[in-house]
Amino acid sequence: MDLTDLYQEIIVDHNRSPRNFGKIDDRTQQAEGYNPLCGDRLTLYLRITDGIIEDVSFDGAGCAISVASASLMTEGIKGKTAQEAEELFRQFHQLVTTTSADQTPEPELGKLAALAGVRAYPTRVKCATLAWHTLDSALSGRDSAKTE
Ligand code: ZN
Repeated sequence: MDLTDLYQEIIVDHNRSPRNFGKIDDRTQQAEGYNPLCGDRLTLYLRITDGIIEDVSFDGAGCAISVASASLMTEGIKGKTAQEAEELFRQFHQLVTTTSADQTPEPELGKLAALAGVRAYPTRVKCATLAWHTLDSALSGRDSAKTE
């Protein structure tokens, strides 16, 4: 299996059975995200204590890329500080927008590297980053994000 197949499999898997899907009852933050280009909508729920993302979940509906990205993001940021999550967003954003196809993903990204392929499809980048923009809103105290 080459890397592209592996990446494809991760996306299909996380779209079919999204991790951390649903609401957290004792959330401290939540924000909504909407990508008008594709119609993806999601709500992100966070429980942050002493600056650490103790729990995170999402619900909503969207295309495979948006759902898989949100699922992978929740796995990637749980247990991290808000600051570390913002840094991961920066790395992820770079991964999906960089034009040099041979750039090696930052090791911190882990499975999130599976979304590197969207860089070839500019409209899909909005799908892949929706959850992250929503996270950014939640962390900065705004209650909604819209990608455009
Ligand atoms: Zn989408």
